[in-house]
Amino acid sequence: MSLSIEYLIVEADRCVACGLCLPHCPTYRKTGSEADSPRGRIQLMRAVAQDILPNNARFKEHIDFCLSCRSCEAACPNSVNYGALVDTSRALHTQKKNLWFTLAKPFIRHRSLQYGLSWLIWLSQKSQLAGLLRVIMPVAKRLPEIQQPVRWKTLYPAASKRGEVSLFLGCATNTFDNSTLKASIHVLNKLGFDVHIPSAQTCCGSIARQMGDAVEAKNLVAQNESAFKQAIPILSVASGCGAGLNDYMREHKVQDISAFLMSCDWAGLQINAMKKTIYVQDPCTLRNVQKSHQTVYDLLKKIPEADVQALPGNGQCCGGAGAYMLTQGKMANDLREDKLSAIKRNNVSILATSNIGCGLHIAEGLRDQHSVAVLHPIQIIARQMGLETLKCKKENML
Ligand code: SF4
Ligand code: SF4
Repeated sequence: MSLSIEYLIVEADRCVACGLCLPHCPTYRKTGSEADSPRGRIQLMRAVAQDILPNNARFKEHIDFCLSCRSCEAACPNSVNYGALVDTSRALHTQKKNLWFTLAKPFIRHRSLQYGLSWLIWLSQKSQLAGLLRVIMPVAKRLPEIQQPVRWKTLYPAASKRGEVSLFLGCATNTFDNSTLKASIHVLNKLGFDVHIPSAQTCCGSIARQMGDAVEAKNLVAQNESAFKQAIPILSVASGCGAGLNDYMREHKVQDISAFLMSCDWAGLQINAMKKTIYVQDPCTLRNVQKSHQTVYDLLKKIPEADVQALPGNGQCCGGAGAYMLTQGKMANDLREDKLSAIKRNNVSILATSNIGCGLHIAEGLRDQHSVAVLHPIQIIARQMGLETLKCKKENML
């Protein structure tokens, strides 16, 4: 995918300004402003690329305000590649000098630093330090309860081998939700797959791309391309990572874990019944980009007696959107409110989501409602297949 002015202008010219994408755009629905709609942003990006409009603060504001949820792209009858357009415009015109991103960059890039950070968070959560940390660093209040950090082996062999896969860890999942990775290994091993975890893998690059740092994003993708050398499926548990890798990794096809699992033979495997209703939140990156959100429902329906339902309003972004929840707090929270209302109206007690960003953002909004467990679907399946090591509060609610 080219990040050039020429590409931007040619792709933007493919927009016929029909407006069919407008009702699908969360920011347009909230503000009613054409400049916060896909059609308006495409016109703005093209006008700035052609030097018809200045690349000023107002332009940056409208581009920054976009969630990159790509609902517009999924709705567009002309298949305009809005995701590539906004990535290109951000790389060329709105690169941000953002303090938190500058500080976070080494942790995003280096797994050893992520590992150290995970230990710090875990130890502080286990000790009296947690209260102090929240006073010194208000952002610590937003952190979820995390599991003890794991040094992953490079291979988790199946007892009876049918095939091999590689697992993409993802920096946020690895730091904040390693139980989803453990659950993935458990289920894949039960299905007969050896699970490889290449140690040289790194972040997918999506956050860097969102921040307009194309150089960093490119370096991260290149590192992943050389880390995943084996010609076996690469599975991602976070749909945001999977979407980013699929867009930019040239030689490898990355698959969401639910989609992969639905292509496997489950004959003879025991899944214990669970007489509960599981609501599913569709991450935009799974619904609009990977277009495999239905496989999450199919996977959860393998649990006998489980009633699997879509969370009403699934077509709209939850506001998490990678770094968006940190950089555009007000809109991120406004959009989340719609999800929280749907959760309340439907008395949801188990919410399954396949993206760590959505999970963290929604769980933060539910912080005071201890009656809702927000979990990756693979955690729910793994537990019903006998994985007993998820010792967190939310697991007790299943
Ligand atoms: S639906 Fe496609 S062609 Fe129509 S305005 Fe939106 S981006 Fe342009
Ligand atoms: S990516 Fe999402 S927020 Fe951005 S213009 Fe498209 S629909 Fe709107």
